[in-house]
Amino acid sequence: MASRVTFIGAGNMASAIIGGMIDSGHPATGITATSPSDAFLAPIHERYGIRTNTDNAAAVRDADVVVLAVKPQVMRNVCEGLRDTLQRQRPLIVSVAAGIDAATLQAWMGGGTALVRCMPNTPSLVGAGAAGLYATPEVTDEQRNQASELLGAVGLVEWVEEESLLDAVTAVSGSGPAYFFLMFEAMEEAGVKLGLPAETARRLAIQTALGAARMAQESELTPARLKRDVMSPGGTTERAVEHLEQAGLRGTMIDAMEACAKRAREMG
Ligand code: NAD
Repeated sequence: MASRVTFIGAGNMASAIIGGMIDSGHPATGITATSPSDAFLAPIHERYGIRTNTDNAAAVRDADVVVLAVKPQVMRNVCEGLRDTLQRQRPLIVSVAAGIDAATLQAWMGGGTALVRCMPNTPSLVGAGAAGLYATPEVTDEQRNQASELLGAVGLVEWVEEESLLDAVTAVSGSGPAYFFLMFEAMEEAGVKLGLPAETARRLAIQTALGAARMAQESELTPARLKRDVMSPGGTTERAVEHLEQAGLRGTMIDAMEACAKRAREMG
């Protein structure tokens, strides 16, 4: 991993990645985080022992990797403020901001920068993220590895070779957690209707999702096959799954994800 990584922004996403890096052995002295507000910096310094700075340009001066982890609405200001230093320094830039394309970011930074655009998701905050990454042609193989290690500290990393595919990543994993939360809501409601206390139904639903995810991850078998294995002919699961298919769950999911990707395109 790169020895010197600077995070512009010290909020949820930056803290999550920093926590993952420290857990995987990255020295705290090689990490810097910035924010205009000391209120954000003090807790992160205290918790991880990393360096902090309220001056963005000063903080990127000796960085190999600069992670842009500010809200999209302040990104232009941040990039333009770093422009001169980045043009001199030429570190790898990693943007975790939703909805700002590589060409726009590069134009704000003065062009020619090696940039990795990343679409992470909120489970990164608990170290179980799934992120799609896209690299501009300026990014070297070594820098790709640096970006993989960085995001790999908070979960799964998948590279896409066309930037437009980040919209598909948004539809699958970026927005994906909400699909499962909706499913938990529905399963809890159904459990209650069937007589269970709400808390019991919720805990059972969540643990079942965790178990199904782990089985699917650890098994050589496809999800279709794993599903068939739980469905004995004429049994309870078969009855439920047939009902879901007949009611159009599969088509609804595909429509919803197409709508999600379309919205991501409109916003990008
Ligand atoms: P956040 O509000 O928690 O953190 C933003 C940080 O930026 C704060 O520390 C703030 O002080 C700092 N900041 C504001 N202006 C600044 C400036 N001019 N210079 C330096 N720092 C500045 O936000 P977040 O949830 O961490 O989101 C950061 C980025 O990550 C966003 O672009 C968002 O799209 C992306 N993202 C977040 C999540 C998530 O799960 N939170 C998921 C996907 C993508």
